[in-house]
Amino acid sequence: MNIKRHVKELKGIGEKKEKCLLKLGIKNIEDLLYYFPINYEDRTEIKKLIEIKDGELANIQVEVKGRASIRKIRKNMIIIKVPITDGTDVAYLTFFNQTYRLNQFEIGEKLYLSGKCKINGLIKEFNNPKIEKNVGGIERIGQIDPIYSLTKGLNNKDLKKFMKEALKYIENLDDIPEYIREKYDLISLKDSIENLHFPKNRDMYLKSRKTLSFMELLEIQLGLLFLKNKRTKDIKVIEFDKTDILSDFEKILPFSLTNSQKKVIKEIDRNMNSKKQMNRLVQGDVGSGKTIVAAFALLKAVKSGYQGSLMAPTEILARQHYENLIKIFKDYELNIDLIVSNLKTKEKREVKEKVESGITDIVVGTHALIEEDIQFYNMGIAITDEQHRFGVNQRAKLANKGINPDILVMTATPIPRTLALITYGDLDISVIDELPPGRKVIRTFGRKYNSREKVYDFIETQIKKGRQAYVVCPMVAENEIMKLNSVENVYDELKEKYRELNIGLLHGKMKANEKEAIMKAFKENKINILVSTTVIEVGVDVPNANIMIVENAERFGLSQLHQLRGRVGRGTHQSYCVLLMSGNSKIAYERIKTMQETNNGFLISEKDLELRGPGEFFGLKQHGIPELKVAKLPRDLKLLSEAQSLAKFILNEDPYLKNEKNKYLKEKIKLKIQI
Ligand code: ADP
Ligand code: MG
Repeated sequence: MNIKRHVKELKGIGEKKEKCLLKLGIKNIEDLLYYFPINYEDRTEIKKLIEIKDGELANIQVEVKGRASIRKIRKNMIIIKVPITDGTDVAYLTFFNQTYRLNQFEIGEKLYLSGKCKINGLIKEFNNPKIEKNVGGIERIGQIDPIYSLTKGLNNKDLKKFMKEALKYIENLDDIPEYIREKYDLISLKDSIENLHFPKNRDMYLKSRKTLSFMELLEIQLGLLFLKNKRTKDIKVIEFDKTDILSDFEKILPFSLTNSQKKVIKEIDRNMNSKKQMNRLVQGDVGSGKTIVAAFALLKAVKSGYQGSLMAPTEILARQHYENLIKIFKDYELNIDLIVSNLKTKEKREVKEKVESGITDIVVGTHALIEEDIQFYNMGIAITDEQHRFGVNQRAKLANKGINPDILVMTATPIPRTLALITYGDLDISVIDELPPGRKVIRTFGRKYNSREKVYDFIETQIKKGRQAYVVCPMVAENEIMKLNSVENVYDELKEKYRELNIGLLHGKMKANEKEAIMKAFKENKINILVSTTVIEVGVDVPNANIMIVENAERFGLSQLHQLRGRVGRGTHQSYCVLLMSGNSKIAYERIKTMQETNNGFLISEKDLELRGPGEFFGLKQHGIPELKVAKLPRDLKLLSEAQSLAKFILNEDPYLKNEKNKYLKEKIKLKIQI
């Protein structure tokens, strides 16, 4: 029986249920089978009343022994007690102020209940236990019961029923290769699917979870490696001039490169000289100086007669890169152009023409670079900055504007290596793990709102010394504005408070030319305090700004706070970051503590991962990788690294997965990743 068949084939699924299932993303039987429970209720251990101790949480199966009694102990407090027994002892169900319970139980009726037992002297009581009355509930005693995530019109019972039907289809499922099962102590695919829905016992549940998680991670990793191998096999058409330009390049810079920058530049240089296409990710903490590394690659391409492109996620950042490159390359006669969606139609057309005819050497832009129908004359390198803001597809779209150009992507969101291998499994990775010299550690403080006045007094003294400050406010939905300091409120407040200072306002809804004017004024120190949303989160570089205040810091994730903090500490002045927080969420507190303790982006990302898990952290889907269905990170990090080693081993031995024993894997990755 084929699991690719539509769920309609299953008993009990009519048009209505089919629609509900579709809402959960379930079309065929396989989708259904891979729709795993989000939780379980363990009914395997049924306790005897006589054995239960005070304070113990227990599942028991009992019979109603007598009539419910009601007692008013004081005004507004009514207690109802129902005597129960399981033959070994007697106990009471106790309910508070739930008069409707009085007529709910019949003598002799069988109940299944779970709750905490309280023993007062000789009397055992269960206060507000969870009760199941009908036979259905009691029948399931002794099992581990799946709990599915539901949607309107579909209950847990339905899903369980459908699942049982679907499981009939997996009798002859192709199975995980024997050699993998043996080596990693996995069970069969059929058993693991079955047991993940209806575990026979805890041990089988764990084995099933391990098997399916491992295979899931292996398939993704194999797919990515397969892609990478395939690409590096292609000989590239582009040929760069191999003359060493690094020392010339260094001469035009106002500073000397850090060793880390040099190391990464050399790695890029080697890739560009090679006959194979470069696919490299540069990871470097905020402020580590990635832009210069990109500039080198652009120069190399241009000096070899090719065009270079640099794509950034925001217009502010694109403009900054554009201006920066013009400054750096002022001694070379390069044609550098900018393309963003907000250009006037005429300007856009001009840039397009220049890029198309090859007059433009370097083009910098936002998404407009891929969205507008721009043709390149001969793109040699495609660079994406702040890669985590783009998806794999967007990266590919830019590269597709050339003929196998070299690809460089940069990100300031450092992620642990194992995870980098999954998100960026198809890339080589370079790390800039050093900050330019002379940077002072940014002093970070978490403060409650009752210190807010003091914080702002402190800003004032810094500004009188000539410095500048960012005040970042969370994005707020209209209905929340009352509770939070919205960007506009804070702006109004500060304008009122510091009449002699220039306060700027910046948010995503402003027109492009307004934003641009504000950024320009801030760069030129014509604005003292810039009140902004997170539009300044990535990349913005204003060395004279040394204070970052984050309003409602509890609203931000750890990596985001780190990115925000990265806007300061870029010049020679001591910098400060103050995180203002309200509420007392434990996670928020942990985040702020971490921020105070370290400036190291790698440590911070690991902590971030620990605090909120990688789902939110780096959105697999956004990277074009299927969402994990069974495996969970960081829980399964160890499995992930085992899967990574195995994937490498398999492809070394059998690069095209032609061996009979790997046929299963080839089929699987074909489905996961379009190869
Ligand atoms: P990133 O993009 O990695 O966050 P940038 O490329 O914006 O960092 O660089 C941050 C700041 O550091 C910029 O002002 C840049 O001019 C400066 N910078 C970069 N490399 C060096 C270096 N080797 N020495 C001194 N300053 C540097
Ligand atoms: Mg940058």
